[in-house]
Amino acid sequence: MTTILDGKLISEQIQAEILLDVNTLKAQGGKTPHLAAVLVGNDGASETYVAAKVKACEKAGFISSLVRLPETATEQELLAKIDELNKDTAIDGYIVQLPLPKHIHEHKIMEAISPQKDVDGFHPQNVGRMALNLPTYLPATPYGIMQLLERYKIDTAGKHCVVIGRSHIVGSPISILMARNAVPGNCTVTLCHSRTANLKEHTLKADILIVALGKSEFVTADMVKDGVVVIDVGITRIASDKTKSGFKLFGDVNYEEVAPKASFITPVPGGIGPMTIASLLINTLKASKKEVYN
Ligand code: NAP
Repeated sequence: MTTILDGKLISEQIQAEILLDVNTLKAQGGKTPHLAAVLVGNDGASETYVAAKVKACEKAGFISSLVRLPETATEQELLAKIDELNKDTAIDGYIVQLPLPKHIHEHKIMEAISPQKDVDGFHPQNVGRMALNLPTYLPATPYGIMQLLERYKIDTAGKHCVVIGRSHIVGSPISILMARNAVPGNCTVTLCHSRTANLKEHTLKADILIVALGKSEFVTADMVKDGVVVIDVGITRIASDKTKSGFKLFGDVNYEEVAPKASFITPVPGGIGPMTIASLLINTLKASKKEVYN
């Protein structure tokens, strides 16, 4: 039997739990958490993701601010905005939506964000703390995966986890987290990428397969064993005249083929996407309560 890992449902539960917490905080005269999002340019997918984050903040009782800069904004202008946000005591945490326009160096921007306010968990200091198993803001997508595994009580200890993709925001951090001496964790991890030889040989050995490469329906039934736990992070927007939005979302896994072989699987949409947003809210609440840095 296959269980669908319902990220939408779990994310709504988390948002409701956060709202309760925020209401208690407010009743005690505490601060309302405040998340800001910086959006440079007007990329369609980024607009959608940021809008979803702002909406989730409202649902969780947070204050949210959207800071917009034009596509033509210079690196200096963005750095000046970041300096302002770092100094703004009203803002607990903020994110800079990626990708940035090509003329802006992403790593320079990530390093300029105050680690205390880096609720996306991308600053090198927070990445280092994650690797050392110290209190930190875990990067939102890997954190969302961990929570989904935890809430569905999926036993990970001693399992072989295969990750496809080694990006700094998903593949690389999730491989670290799954290997940590923690729950979830304690997996033996294989990290695959575009230079991996005989990828299928690895994926066939996976008890847990985490896929984040950005190629729609890349993983097919012949690449997985029976009973595998499948976490599909991929989101590819493909134009469609059959939907109101004008596009359809596809994961990196061929869901129709792979689901019957899986014990657990995330759908796309409705799997890791909403969990990423829930994790961002948890990190912002932690920032507001000064739970990571005090
Ligand atoms: P990325 O930065 O584009 O990295 C892709 C990774 O996949 C790279 O490590 C690349 O290897 C590897 N790869 C590419 N082709 C491969 C192949 N044929 N075989 C094995 N590995 C291959 O990706 P990302 O930012 O992590 O995003 C991945 C996907 O997740 C995208 O669809 C993105 O939209 C989605 N995403 C979803 C969420 C969410 O909230 N659900 C969040 C973030 C990202 P090399 O390193 O060798 O190039």
